[in-house]
Amino acid sequence: RAKKAGRNTFCFYDDGMGSDVSERTLLELDLRDAVMRSEFLLHYQPIVDAASRTVRAFEALMRWTHPVRGTIPPTEFIPLAEETGLIVALGSWALHEACREAASWPGDLRVAVNVSAVQFARPGLEKVVGDALSASGLPAHRLELEITESVLMSDAESVVACLHRLRDLGVRIALDDFGTGYSSLSYLRRFPFDKIKIDRSFIRDISDGNTAAIVRAIVGLGERTGATITAEGVETAEQFEGVCREGCNQVQGYLFSEPLRASRVMNFVEELALRSSTPSFVCARST
Ligand code: C2E
Ligand code: MG
Ligand code: MG
Ligand code: MG
Repeated sequence: RAKKAGRNTFCFYDDGMGSDVSERTLLELDLRDAVMRSEFLLHYQPIVDAASRTVRAFEALMRWTHPVRGTIPPTEFIPLAEETGLIVALGSWALHEACREAASWPGDLRVAVNVSAVQFARPGLEKVVGDALSASGLPAHRLELEITESVLMSDAESVVACLHRLRDLGVRIALDDFGTGYSSLSYLRRFPFDKIKIDRSFIRDISDGNTAAIVRAIVGLGERTGATITAEGVETAEQFEGVCREGCNQVQGYLFSEPLRASRVMNFVEELALRSSTPSFVCARST
């Protein structure tokens, strides 16, 4: 088997055999080359203020255009990049690239960048963030770092200290995919997040009374702690209505837009401002 044979061994297989191990080995080799060949790109998905329906931020989402396979989604290559440590190089590229792009956006539009637990486990993240800000000229308050609960799972005091130092730079810290971890509430005690992004599994089920109650409770938490509450994965007008009813401050999802090429970011901001045919209901809260 490819795994026993070791990392540097090629493995030949029939199409029908479905060997995940050799598939991963091949992808891993490609990934190393891809970093060198700069086959990566950032797409940007708008994050919209629920009440005013204006764009507040864009989340940078990585895309890999493989020369043969075409676009490979991050759910496939990010875990591999984390296992191999390549995420450290990829992640700092993403920080530099996102800050560079966002520096040309008008007003106080923010950019949100996902940061992996592996990047926190290695020294140097603060320097990368500082360098990305100074190289681009982007004001620190326009950069938001999205971390998942896995970053805090290590229980390392050093991670929390690092988060505080990053915020001392002026950068905002968001907790991504909230509610999917093993002890979601305990993570909120470890660090006072600027933003909580409710995982899309809750948004999908928002029509369910219990789920709606949980979302409402998270909104209550946000009001007490000053955190902005964002609903992820809003796909339908009903879901939008639901998350507005429960008081979410911001929304993100296919209902508004898929992640966009960088060149389309400004178009979207203008289009949304012009769009007059908005849903007829009124959202309760805003930030
Ligand atoms: P995430 O940070 O939670 O990003 C949101 C994901 O949900 C994105 O998937 C986005 O395209 C998708 N999404 C947005 N709206 C909707 C919707 O209405 N319905 C559904 N079903 N999905 C929606 P994507 O781009 O495939 O990224 C997946 C994950 O990969 C991200 O989840 C993030 O954890 C990771 N990722 C992406 N880019 C980076 C990066 O630069 N660095 C790191 N460390 N991770 C990244
Ligand atoms: Mg994210
Ligand atoms: Mg998320
Ligand atoms: Mg996610």
